[in-house]
Amino acid sequence: TVRVRIAPSPTGNLHIGTARTAVFNWLFARNQGGTFVLRVEDTDLERSRPEYTQNILDGLTWLGLQWDEGPVFQTDRFDLYRTKVEQLLDQGLAYRCYCTPGELEEMRAKQKAAGEAPRYDNRHRHLSLEQQAAFEAEGRTSVIRFKIDDDRVIRWHDLVRGSVTWTGRDLGGDMVIARAASGDSVGQPLYNFVVVVDDLAMAITHVIRGEDHIGNTPKQILLYEALDAPAPQFGHTPLILNEAGQKLSKRDGVTSISDFQTLGYVPEAIANYMTLLGWSPPEPMTERFTLAEAAAHFSFDRVNKAGAKFDWDKLNWLNSQVLHDLAPSALVDRLLPVWAAAGYDLGSQPRPWLEELAVLIGPSLTLLQDAVDLSRFYTGPTLDYDDSAQEQLHQAGAAAVLQGLLADPAALEGLDGDKAQALINGVTKAQGVKKGVVMRTLRAALMGTMQGPDVQQSWLLLNQRGWDRARLGAAA
Ligand code: GLU
Repeated sequence: TVRVRIAPSPTGNLHIGTARTAVFNWLFARNQGGTFVLRVEDTDLERSRPEYTQNILDGLTWLGLQWDEGPVFQTDRFDLYRTKVEQLLDQGLAYRCYCTPGELEEMRAKQKAAGEAPRYDNRHRHLSLEQQAAFEAEGRTSVIRFKIDDDRVIRWHDLVRGSVTWTGRDLGGDMVIARAASGDSVGQPLYNFVVVVDDLAMAITHVIRGEDHIGNTPKQILLYEALDAPAPQFGHTPLILNEAGQKLSKRDGVTSISDFQTLGYVPEAIANYMTLLGWSPPEPMTERFTLAEAAAHFSFDRVNKAGAKFDWDKLNWLNSQVLHDLAPSALVDRLLPVWAAAGYDLGSQPRPWLEELAVLIGPSLTLLQDAVDLSRFYTGPTLDYDDSAQEQLHQAGAAAVLQGLLADPAALEGLDGDKAQALINGVTKAQGVKKGVVMRTLRAALMGTMQGPDVQQSWLLLNQRGWDRARLGAAA
């Protein structure tokens, strides 16, 4: 049965590229009734941080990418990796290299001068025991290198890219699989090696990851062979590109899932959009779907080879669609933290009223954060007036209009659409002004600005809290 994994390195917050890889693994696992494993690749002890691990776990959960096994931490598994390094040493498939940084530097400088690509020239592949002892006597440490023959041809059938071929020559010489250590100890095992040991130990059947890892795959295939195990299938998903067509990077600003969350994107839209970054849904699906719907139809033959350009307009469109389709009560649940963060004391208001507010502002939302500006008229009895509103309130007749609206307190009890119209018409007649004057004065007094949401709907909402009377009175 299918077993896939997501293997984030906790050296930063959950990156959109990693999240997208997680989406594809999750979709494939769910489509195949397989298992989705979470492995935290925290072997970079200097750059890994627990808060990044937390951010990654939270981000995956937020997106709805629940893992079935894990998290497994690589730092718990160094013993296993060292045992496997020793096995390769014993079998003569790996060896100790005593080159100093200076010697490697010199090697590279010569290659550069000759116009050659940098590579290790395998010079310590056949050291005698005496030579090794001599280096150790000098106090040199040794890294462990895995033998890669130049004329090896490595081929695999990539789930996305089809047939891929590399030769040993392209891999830069015998590769370091464990960092330097002295004597006969084994230093810290490195990425390409530990990934293979783990994918084997976890019985991973399909390695689905970003195209930036494609150069690691031939090395890893050779390691499977050395460990006498069949390699899993590989699938390399296209890179995410910025609007200029370059690989999306930190310089592009928003790149982590928590950044999108902070901006007011909802997980359904992000998950939907990330799936579209590389996958084309089959007919009759549209571009708008849930992860579960995508999982039902997911296959690698609809994953594109070409890089996927990040399209903010499409993401914004998806986000607005998700928000517009939420039931009022669900939208209130999402807005409560946004209101609280904006300092609006709305959490204490009655739920049905909050739902009416959500119905009023919902259609204008692209991002949840848009609710901050759109809700500011409905947060309490008091109001700031901008210049346009002040000007309107100083127009001749404005005061009389306001007095007229306030004249009969009973008329302002339990306002509905008809009562509001009757009041407006009554004041229009009684004051002998145009209806537009009444409406503009009402807007200025209730909203504090001449632009913005529908006045009559706002009035009904404010009326339920009694804030309309407070505002009309303050403006009069
Ligand atoms: N830890 C690697 C990364 O964060 C992923 C390795 C893999 O998927 O093989 O990019």
